[in-house]
Amino acid sequence: MKIDLHVHTRHYSGCSGIEADELLEHAAGVGLDGLALTEHGILWPEDKLAPLREKAAEIGLLLLAGQEITCLERGRRQDFLVFGMTVSLGSLESPLELIERVHGEGGVVVAAHPFKPSRLGAGYHGVGDDIVDLAIDAVELFHPDHDRQARAKVRAAAKILNIPMTGGSDSHALYSLGYCSTRFFNPIRTEDDLVREIRAGRMEPLNGLK
Ligand SMILES: [Zn+2]
Ligand SMILES: [Zn+2]
Repeated sequence: MKIDLHVHTRHYSGCSGIEADELLEHAAGVGLDGLALTEHGILWPEDKLAPLREKAAEIGLLLLAGQEITCLERGRRQDFLVFGMTVSLGSLESPLELIERVHGEGGVVVAAHPFKPSRLGAGYHGVGDDIVDLAIDAVELFHPDHDRQARAKVRAAAKILNIPMTGGSDSHALYSLGYCSTRFFNPIRTEDDLVREIRAGRMEPLNGLK
């Protein structure tokens, strides 16, 4: 199953222009089997999500919900995708606190675009080299802002940490949906399935889908 694990909509991410209804049609059109909504700090409320899930199912698409959490570690923005939580986490001070909380509630944490170059000069808009000190469950390899060098760093970190890698488009507009995605080897129907398969590492990142 090809799933784009990193998508923002205009409904809960002010920076995105994606309308949920268009998103579903488009996702099916670019060959995705599923996608995960990962709004900034917010989990879609179940009453809003349920009708969308039904709509998605009608066109053979799996709709999952996670969230993208920003931690401000020593003044630097570090982003993480979180799956398997039942509440919105907002933003947290430290990645350690985030990971402890999510693991305590049975979820998983994926480092989002850890080596995306910062727009504000040096460093990364992501966890960067600190990644090897964190008990994360997976790391995003394929992301539109990861160049060859970034990908090499992710691969090295994944090896050190012995964790699987994912792909996600981080789409804020429809055109990039599915550019990067993750292929899961077993069927996934729910967020629980997703968490279990990520923990077991039964997936591979995909680039340039289409
Ligand atoms: Zn991000
Ligand atoms: Zn994002």
